[in-house]
Amino acid sequence: MSRSDTLKLLLACGALLVSAAFVFWSRRGAAPPGAFFYDLSEKRLYAAPRDAFAPVEGVGGETGDGVEAIVVRCEQCPAELRRVAYLQTHSTEFKQRHDAAKAAGGAPIAELTRAYIAANTLVRTVDGSEWFATSTPEGSRIVRDWKRRCPQHGAWEKPLRP
Ligand SMILES: [Zn+2]
Repeated sequence: MSRSDTLKLLLACGALLVSAAFVFWSRRGAAPPGAFFYDLSEKRLYAAPRDAFAPVEGVGGETGDGVEAIVVRCEQCPAELRRVAYLQTHSTEFKQRHDAAKAAGGAPIAELTRAYIAANTLVRTVDGSEWFATSTPEGSRIVRDWKRRCPQHGAWEKPLRP
C-alpha cells in the first residue's frame, strides 16, 4: 500500500468515526432523557427536573414508581393529541450506581459502557406489563419502532418536552 493509499484509508476511518459519533449523538437527541415522567400507580404524566434519573419518587400513590416517559406528537396536531410512545427506567443496580455517583458530587460512574447501559435501561409500552432491557430484541423494538405518521397530516411524530 502506498503512502497516499494509507492516508486515504486513515481519512476514511476518521470520517466513519465522526459519523458514528454523530449518529450516537443525534439518536440520544431524538429521545431526550428526563423532562416528562409518568407515575405508574397514578397513571399520570408530570414534568420532572431534567436530571431526574428513573425510577424516582413519583407524584402520588405508590412511591418510587415515577419513570421517564417519551412523549410524542405530530407538530401540526393540537397539544392534547400527544401520546406516550414508551416508558423508560433503569435496573436497581444502575439506579444505585447513578445515585452514589451523584451523592459523590457528580463523579462519573466507573465502567459505564454502552453494553452496560443497554442491559440496564428498561423500556415498556404504557399498556405493557413487562419491562425489557434495551439490549433485548423486545426492548430495542420498543425504542426503535415508536414513530408513527399522523393519519391526518402525514407528518412524523416528534418527541416533546413539557
Ligand atoms: Zn397531525
